[in-house]
Amino acid sequence: MGKAKAFGQLQAQVVDADRSNVSFKDVAGIDEAKEELVEIVNFLKNPDKYTIAGARIPTGVLLYGEPGTGKTLLAKAIAGEAGVTFFSISGSNFVEMYAGIGASRVRDLFIQGKKKAPCIIFIDEIDAVGKRRGGGSNDEREQTLNQLLVEMDGFQANDKVIIVAATNRLDTLDPALLRPGRFDRQVLVPLPDVLGREHIIKVHAEKVQTDESVDWHQIAKETPGFSGAELANLVNEATLMAVKGGGKIGMVELELAKDKVMMGAERRSMIISEKDKEITAYHEIGHALVALMTPGADPVVKVSIIPRGESMGQTMQVPDMDKHSHSCAYLFDKICVLLGGRIAEELIYEELTTGSANDIERATGLARRMVCEWGMHEKIGPVVYNNMDHPGMIGPAISEQTAVMIDEAVKDIIQRAYDYAKKILLENTLLLNGLTQELLDKETISAADIERVMGHRRGLSCHSV
Ligand code: ADP
Ligand code: ZN
Repeated sequence: MGKAKAFGQLQAQVVDADRSNVSFKDVAGIDEAKEELVEIVNFLKNPDKYTIAGARIPTGVLLYGEPGTGKTLLAKAIAGEAGVTFFSISGSNFVEMYAGIGASRVRDLFIQGKKKAPCIIFIDEIDAVGKRRGGGSNDEREQTLNQLLVEMDGFQANDKVIIVAATNRLDTLDPALLRPGRFDRQVLVPLPDVLGREHIIKVHAEKVQTDESVDWHQIAKETPGFSGAELANLVNEATLMAVKGGGKIGMVELELAKDKVMMGAERRSMIISEKDKEITAYHEIGHALVALMTPGADPVVKVSIIPRGESMGQTMQVPDMDKHSHSCAYLFDKICVLLGGRIAEELIYEELTTGSANDIERATGLARRMVCEWGMHEKIGPVVYNNMDHPGMIGPAISEQTAVMIDEAVKDIIQRAYDYAKKILLENTLLLNGLTQELLDKETISAADIERVMGHRRGLSCHSV
């Protein structure tokens, strides 16, 4: 193949402009993300209404989440719903380009976009261009990134162009990209929970023939950690098997297809065993329950055992934004909540896992600051000491004796928090088990679900008295 031809092909695949025929109903199991994007669709459908009203519409929307969760699909669906042109380009293509071409390609892309407005410009793998700058930087990438920033800053609401970018590495992005007026709207596209997985499978199985043995909910239950792309692949594999066998898809094909996708998954570690799921559920409910039973702790809004990034599960609390300084009691409660995960595991299982390393690190860090920086331990008093975690703090040089005292004070705080949290969990083992079961069934539970389970338990104990 000649050089010129290769270059021509590259150009052709770099920018794809298309009418999108994807709509929101093709995207399943990620309703919260969809809801956040409805406003963008409405704007693109009727931009003048918004500009006349002076409404502020984001220029850039960043979709972030694991690979295969449907970010590209969502971007196409926005364009499809609004009936506008969909331009797409991948960040990794920019970087592979010949010197000086990346930046001019960005310029072209925006000129084309403005001509076709209203439209969507979709940049996949934005991290390839938008990685944090500095340290062995790549000039080509940096120029491309700068051009992108310049273009976005020059945008006006009446340009009617929305940039949607996707990444699975939010943490590596250059903060400059996330400033107001750029990608200031960030939308998480999570791995689907059990109900979400069932919906996704159904969307993909709509056009295939199935027999009466098929139980979609069962398949959804057996595929924790699967992304939308893996579920689509599962249905496809099952279809191929059914075609070969000359019949409809049944449970046998679906089970075989599931195993095949699981074996082939690059992210094997992401596909979770039942046992790990259970350990994670107990761990997260341990955090949540301690928070729920501690009046001063931040309220729990959501608990999830859907993996995200490095973490296998999350307990989400909303901190009180108005608080600028924290009381000793509040910090102590925070440590209790952090330790709750590990303690729940201890109460249920013989063996400990490494899953609490980050919690323990954070709890210890907080306790150390309480002692060394905030004068919150009676044995040490209001004296600042050099804190190894925060080098550069002023304070007296620490004698060996003081260092021992500091360590003891830190341990004392942790031990007191540990005892407090353990007492809570021991007094509420029924709830610990009940909430864990609920979480295992649903994979994500809200404050309302927790309320319901707790109310139910309270009801039970009233009757039994
Ligand atoms: P990402 O951009 O997040 O890596 P894609 O949007 O490229 O993921 O997903 C690849 C394919 O997987 C989609 O074209 C679709 O067939 C399927 N898929 C992924 N997520 C979903 C979803 N939430 N609902 C329906 N299908 C999905
Ligand atoms: Zn934890």
